[in-house]
Amino acid sequence: MSSHTGHVALITGAGRGIGRAIADAHAAAGARVAYVDYDPALAEQAATAAKARGHDVIALSTDVANEEAVALACRRAAEALGTIDILVNNAGISPKTGGDGKRAHAWEMSPDEWRRVIDVNLTGAFNCMRSVVPGMREIGHGRIVSLSSVAGKTYCDIVGVHYAASKAALIGFTKHLAGELGPYGITINAVAPGRIDTPLVRGTAPEANEAARLATPLRRLGSPEDVANMCLFLTSDAAAFVTGQVCDVAGGWLMT
Ligand code: NAD
Repeated sequence: MSSHTGHVALITGAGRGIGRAIADAHAAAGARVAYVDYDPALAEQAATAAKARGHDVIALSTDVANEEAVALACRRAAEALGTIDILVNNAGISPKTGGDGKRAHAWEMSPDEWRRVIDVNLTGAFNCMRSVVPGMREIGHGRIVSLSSVAGKTYCDIVGVHYAASKAALIGFTKHLAGELGPYGITINAVAPGRIDTPLVRGTAPEANEAARLATPLRRLGSPEDVANMCLFLTSDAAAFVTGQVCDVAGGWLMT
């Protein structure tokens, strides 16, 4: 029997990049998986490929910032796959509206851009947590992991202030909820990746990615699978006594 057999995982932003690797890793480990993405074609492609490998998965298209849409997607996932006992809050955006693949300066950023990033990166995690925790409490078991970032802990020149603030806030979200949810058998942790080679990062200036590689003791960008491995550990029985932690997957870039 595989490590995640009998579990049901909902992964947001699962259409590509890190989220797809997390969803694929959970499916390969025996979980039934809902691939949730804003982009229906990406969600469908990723889930179809997993089905072709023999896994029990579904694709759902949802904007995590939309509370009603998230509640509906969680209901659909639970009807199709069973009570969701694993949630990975991975969906996130990092707009590069400053020109040349760079983020806008804080003093030039539009309030709309600020709000959208907070709505997706932070409120999206709140919306998903709110929809799945009642089911987790009922069964007395749950695992929640949220994708923070090294940029939530220190200055990082490729991201905007909205992104840094949202990723730092996810750390407070994680620590607070570890206290509230622990008594119900639910763990919640955050993963803080360094620079990971995904479509999001390929949209930034190449010299910035090269500088990040050189600042990383392991001298490479991370892969989506590097991050998925940490998430799979945190959602497994092996991590039953781990909660409220922020786990860096950054090749030693930031050692705090
Ligand atoms: P990506 O842009 O390659 O993929 C993100 C996926 O999320 C896309 O499929 C996109 O369609 C989906 N998505 C975007 N907005 C959504 C919404 N409102 N609702 C549902 N789905 C939505 O990004 P990635 O590099 O794979 O990053 C995944 C997560 O990891 C993000 O939270 C990101 O902030 C975080 N992260 C990434 C890096 C990195 O270097 N790539 C570093 C630290 C943290």
